[in-house]
Amino acid sequence: MRIQMTRVAINGAAGRMGVVLLKAAHEAENVELAAAVVRPNSDKFGVSVKKLADIDNNLKTVGNLEGILDQFDVLIDFTNPKLTLSTLQACQDNGKKIVIGTTGFNDDELALIRSASESISILLAPNTSLGVNLVLGLLEKAAAVLGDDADIEIIEMHHRNKIDAPSGTALKMGEVIADTLGRELATCAVYGREGETGSRDKKTIGFATLRGGDVVGEHTVIFACEGERIEITHKASHRMTFARGAVRAAQWLMKKDKGLFTMQDVLEID
Ligand code: NAD
Repeated sequence: MRIQMTRVAINGAAGRMGVVLLKAAHEAENVELAAAVVRPNSDKFGVSVKKLADIDNNLKTVGNLEGILDQFDVLIDFTNPKLTLSTLQACQDNGKKIVIGTTGFNDDELALIRSASESISILLAPNTSLGVNLVLGLLEKAAAVLGDDADIEIIEMHHRNKIDAPSGTALKMGEVIADTLGRELATCAVYGREGETGSRDKKTIGFATLRGGDVVGEHTVIFACEGERIEITHKASHRMTFARGAVRAAQWLMKKDKGLFTMQDVLEID
């Protein structure tokens, strides 16, 4: 049986995630690293991916999607919300699949992504690592067992250059817990505390954000009960864990013509 190759394009190829995505796509079996897109005014424009990602591949970066639209099947985008949305439009106009790893979308932007998924297949994942997606299942279980008896707090830490807070992963964790407890994250989330706060409202989910150094991504969810405390922690030590997950998701998307999917679908974690 002939194995189908997945031709992958990486958007934001010169970014922190972009570089490891190039490497992950280059190393993956049955995947062709077909295109690498950087900012048109970037000093990495026209540079070979060999130089960018230290891989044995002479593909050169381009400055936009025009001209390469017939060369790839799935675009992997880890950039910023504004760029992701314009890239999404190009994918929609040209029937291309897209893996979105970008975080920090507001509700209107998420609605645009949902609407685009009526015509193309989209994988939207604030965290593409196997570990975090496993943790989401553990959180659901913990929330279901502990119910409203636990005070729930989510702490995350990332490197000093992260531009959104709390992280998309922390929000996703909050969403999974809120859904399990029949709460709305929009109304029960508390983002940081200061001054005379009064005592804690039992039904809130608290978030605390730390930024500094080169931390790739750390999340701890605390379930604080009377007499005991449960803490579930995930620590990413290398961006390759996200990149490999994103490439796996791109391969998985080849089976789908349209729809909005999550890493839970890809990894078949219930
Ligand atoms: P980064 O700033 O290092 O990379 C973004 C890249 O996009 C930069 O190189 C920038 O030059 C490039 N870019 C901007 N405009 C462009 C344009 N017009 N054309 C092409 N490229 C353009 O950021 P990062 O740390 O790589 O993170 C990127 C995103 O991925 C963030 O939203 C982050 O939160 C998210 N992220 C997601 C996961 C996950 O598992 N889903 C993991 C890590 C990071």
